[in-house]
Amino acid sequence: MRARRFSSWALIALLFVQTACGGLLAGAEWGAPAPRHVEAGFNLFSPEQDVELGDASAGEVARQVALLRDERTDRYVQRLGEKIAAGAPGYRFPYRFVVVASPEVNAFALPGGYVFVNTGAIEAAHTEGELAGVLAHEIAHVALRHGTNQASKAYVAKTGLNILDALTGGRRTRLGQTAHSYARTLFLRFNREAEEQADLEGARLMAAAGYDPRDMASFFETLEERGGERTPEAQDDHPDPASRVALIEETLPALRLSRAPVHDTEEFRRIKARLSGRR
Ligand SMILES: [Zn+2]
Repeated sequence: MRARRFSSWALIALLFVQTACGGLLAGAEWGAPAPRHVEAGFNLFSPEQDVELGDASAGEVARQVALLRDERTDRYVQRLGEKIAAGAPGYRFPYRFVVVASPEVNAFALPGGYVFVNTGAIEAAHTEGELAGVLAHEIAHVALRHGTNQASKAYVAKTGLNILDALTGGRRTRLGQTAHSYARTLFLRFNREAEEQADLEGARLMAAAGYDPRDMASFFETLEERGGERTPEAQDDHPDPASRVALIEETLPALRLSRAPVHDTEEFRRIKARLSGRR
């Protein structure tokens, strides 16, 4: 299957797949014991198509959000993100970290390596370790290819046929709305599973980069404190930060933790001060 021509609504449909997960904000309900080995799921797309789709989608995002465009902040977040992404499993995606000027505490990823992080998330993080946790979670979504995995599952279930038709150049009308309802119903279950995987894999990535995964858990607590600031897409997901914290703690014994993990840096404090000075 080739996915060469992307119509703009189709890109938006895929964005919904991702943002319905609400980035780091979407919680998960853990009924069953969590899988300890996270592997990328079934996928009809090639990793190169993830990149192609992500590149085109990033253009759409750039039109819809206000990018911060502060070189020093961008450089800092890119460097931090690359450090964490160095341990990402699977295909070597070209990770690009983009800072969005928005007070909402949120971040989200596109297929193929684009990670968008709001200034609100940077400012809400108490330490560099907490911000590293935000990025690690999003990097895990990219590395595990959750966006195209969800699109592939929808295709096999037939219900996502129209989305895939459009991705491959087919023509449909009035699908923007349909795609939205798919994202809110069909994809919800996948999203929760994907969220759990992103937390587990994100914790591993943090440990591998010399950070403490407990700082990721601590950011979930920060989110809970600031519970009012959720994206509309994530509101129906009933995030349960306490369960996410418990999951990270459960997985700690299986991780190779640094004896002297990085919790905070001078550079992170400078970037935070810089952002609050811009307001
Ligand atoms: Zn997520």
